[in-house]
This record gives sequence, structure tokens and C-alpha cells, in this order.
Amino acid sequence: MARRTKVYEGKAKVLYEGPEPGTLVQYFKDDATAFNAEKKAVIEGKGALNNRLSEFFMTGLNGIGVPTHFIRRLNMREQLIRAVEMIPLEVVVRNVAAGSLSKRLGIEEGTALPRPIVEFYFKDDSLGDPLVTEEHVIAFGWASQQDLDDMVALALRVNDFLSGVMMGVGIRLIDFKIEIGRVWEGDFQRLIVADEISPDSCRLWDIKTGQKFDKDVFRRDLGSLADAYTEVARRLGVLPRNIAAVAKPTLIN
Ligand code: UDP
Repeated sequence: MARRTKVYEGKAKVLYEGPEPGTLVQYFKDDATAFNAEKKAVIEGKGALNNRLSEFFMTGLNGIGVPTHFIRRLNMREQLIRAVEMIPLEVVVRNVAAGSLSKRLGIEEGTALPRPIVEFYFKDDSLGDPLVTEEHVIAFGWASQQDLDDMVALALRVNDFLSGVMMGVGIRLIDFKIEIGRVWEGDFQRLIVADEISPDSCRLWDIKTGQKFDKDVFRRDLGSLADAYTEVARRLGVLPRNIAAVAKPTLIN
């Protein structure tokens, strides 16, 4: 069988050439990294969970007219996506103070913000993904003013959608990160949500208990990451059981 062509390998995903021009296959690995890959582990089942969860969120977004790169899930670990020209920015939306915002500005984690805050980080591992302003984005040509306006609008729509979906299952969306790409339709470009939306790139706290169901469980050694992600998937009705537990071959009588 012909070996497929790897286009890109990141910390948590691999991209392969897709079956048709303009498509890619996105493969979700079990690898977990934090602190710019200083902390690493393999979490059995994480790739399959994130594949399912990202499918769930992206399908929902497509359904309300927020364009995403997601076309369809292919199998446990892979999905077919549209190839895009990635904008080299991480777009973070925050509803509640946590993580780097709390550290930088001395705001206690868990403090509700007066309104959602959108931030841009320049995607560069060697620099540790620094926070940048719109001035930097425009001056260095990463995106235009129009792109910035479109990115903020997209990010806020994603925030409204995700906050609502999570609230419906008793989870508070603290913050999240998305990445955005350009697609060309003739001479016109459109910005669409790309990469993934999963507990790897969100902060999710139980509304009642404050329990964390996101990558902070791994970053801060708070317990089993697979269990946390499984709980999110179970509440959303995406997965009925712990996928890590059924990942091993079992005899069926
Ligand atoms: N985030 C991410 N990838 C990154 C940096 C941040 O997915 O490279 C997500 C993170 O999971 C959180 C949000 O973006 O949901 C805000 O992260 P923050 O700036 O607080 O940084 P952190 O504390 O994660 O270093």
C-alpha cells in the first residue's frame, strides 16, 4: 500500500495529504505537552476523545453558520478537513480570569471578567508564543485590519456557542484558544476556524464544584486527564464510556 504524505507534525496532531486537492487528513495523537513541551506524556485515549470532541464542536459551529475547516470524521483518530492558509496567531477568548492573564495582571483565578476579552499570541514555539497587540499583527503583516475585525467577530461567535453548549451540561467555559485560516474563493478570501477545539485548548470548570476538566489537570497534576476529557464527552453525549478503557482488545463472547 502506498504510504501517505505527511504534510506537518505538531505536538498533538499530524496532518497528511487528503484524498482530494484542498483537503487534509488531521490525525489526533495521544501525546500531551505543556509549558512549551517541557512537560510531556502519552495519555491513552486522548487522541480519540479530542477527535470526537472537535468534531462535535466544529459540526455545531458549521450548523450555526460559523465556518470551520471540518468536513467529516474518518475514523477513531482522523478527520477530513479543508486545507487552509494558517494565520500565525493563537486567538484566545477569556470569560473568567485564569492562567497567564491571572499571572500577568495579578487577578485571582476565577474572577469573572467584565466582558469577554480577545487576545492574540504570535505562534512561535522558540519565543514561547508571546502576547502581541493588533499593532504588531498589522505592522508585521500577519493579518490585515479587516482580518483582525473578522477574527474578533469569529472568536466571539465561537465563545457564545461554546459557552452555551457547555453551560447546558453544567460546565463553565473559562477561556479557550482557536486558530484561524484563510480559504480562497476565486479572488476573495474567507476566514474560517481551523485546528481543533477540545479540552486541550479550553479551560472548563464544573459550574457547581469548580472541578477542572481540561488540560490544567495535566499541567497541574490534578488527576487523570483521560477521565476529565471522558467526563466532558459523556456530558455532551459524544461518548457513552471511557474510551481509554475500551481501547485495548477485549474478547467478545
Ligand atoms: N492555550 C492553548 N495553547 C497555547 C496557549 C494557551 O490552547 O499554546 C489555551 C489554554 O488552554 C487556555 C487559553 O488558551 O484555555 C488561555 O491560556 P493562557 O494564556 O492562560 O496560558 P496558559 O496558562 O495555558 O499558559
